[in-house]
Formats: sequence, structure tokens, C-alpha cells
Amino acid sequence: MKVKVIGSGSMWTSYQSASYKIDEDILVDIPNGMCKNLFRWNVHPKQIHHVLITHFHGDHYFDIPFYLLIKSKNEDKEVHIYCSEEGEEKNRKLVTLAFPNTDTEIMESLSLEYHHTQKFRIHEYEVEKMLVDHGTLKPAYGYLFQVGKKKVGFTGDTCLCPAVEKMAQECSYLFCDCMLKQGNTKHMGIDNIIQLTEQNPNCQLIVSHLEDTTREELKKRNIKNVKIPEDGEEIIIAE
Ligand SMILES: [Zn+2]
Ligand SMILES: [Zn+2]
Repeated sequence: MKVKVIGSGSMWTSYQSASYKIDEDILVDIPNGMCKNLFRWNVHPKQIHHVLITHFHGDHYFDIPFYLLIKSKNEDKEVHIYCSEEGEEKNRKLVTLAFPNTDTEIMESLSLEYHHTQKFRIHEYEVEKMLVDHGTLKPAYGYLFQVGKKKVGFTGDTCLCPAVEKMAQECSYLFCDCMLKQGNTKHMGIDNIIQLTEQNPNCQLIVSHLEDTTREELKKRNIKNVKIPEDGEEIIIAE
């Protein structure tokens, strides 16, 4: 598995918002600016077939209209979106807001399938949706990928909750929310990350959704098993 960190920042930073590309055609979250950032790394959004959305805050799905537009204009119109059930209506509304005269045309030309099940398969990966705790925004999910004998997780936005603890126990690599210096009821902080690494020495944490001040503090602290990625960095996970 190859994971490219497209974005590692929180909303109010010069870094792209938290998002990832897995191998050639899978995205985890599709924040505002995602298509532009894919182009920046020489990835054409038309090659993407699978989009996993963790939750419906704008910094995780607002590039849906641009992605669907470009797919509708290309020969390969296959799109699979994995999210909670209210996502179909939310995404449709966004397309109408973005392209009021051509929204129906865009939607009708796509070969678009939604997937709401707890477990699903993408290529060689068995994927499990994990219900995390992102304060009042419900539901919010993380995703757990089985990669050969290893597990690789993506927490999405979350506080430290039982689902995140389970993911850290099971995963060799966990891409996780660490927005804050000190975690609260919506996002994890450096204190939570330290706890997770101490309890799970075999799990490599790759932090994301970082405020700039959190990024600085993490760099100073140099915590074992915690990687602070730059946007565009690729992490190769052997199976
Ligand atoms: Zn959020
Ligand atoms: Zn967010």
C-alpha cells in the first residue's frame, strides 16, 4: 500500500486540509482544494474511482462537485463513494450549488454508486468503517484497511475514544487527528498521541489535521513512533 498525504493541516493553515490518496485510485476525504492539490502532485482526479468520506464537515468533502464534474467529462465515469447515508443528499446539493445549470447532466452521466455498509472491499483491501467521536457532528467515521497481515487506519476527525484506541491496538500504521496541543471533545491533541504511543509501541502514528502551533510543538518534542508528514509525502507500507 502506498499512502500519499495530500493534506496534513487544519483549516486555517497554509497546508491542505487532512486528506490522503491510497495507491492509484482511492481517496480518504475530499476537502476544498483537493482536485487542485492532486494536480499539484501530478495526479489527475479522473483516475480516482473510490472516495471514502469520514464525515460531513466542509474541510472533508467540499471538493465533491469538482471531482464529479471532471469524472462526468471523462470516458471513465466510474465513481464509488463510501460514507454515511445522509451523504447522497449532501453531495447532490453541493453539485447543484456549484453548477446550477448542469447539475442534472453531471449526475446523470456518471456511473455513481454509494456504499453505506459497515464493511466493504476495495481491490485487495477489506475495509471496516469505525464509528469515532467528533463531538456534536454525528456520525463521524474512521476507516480500517486490512493490508496483507497488517492493518492501516485513518481516524478522521475524532477525540480520543474507544474506536481510536482499538485502531491503535490493531494497526501497524495509524493516520490520526492531532489538531491540538491538548485534546478536547472534538479533536485529539499531543497529550492523546503520547498516550496512544505509550500504550501501543508497535503502532506508527502519522499525525494530521495539524494546527501550525501543534506542528511546531510536535517537531520540538520529537516523540518516538510519531511521524509529522509534509503535504505530498508518500508512505510505503509493505504487506
Ligand atoms: Zn470535522
Ligand atoms: Zn476537519
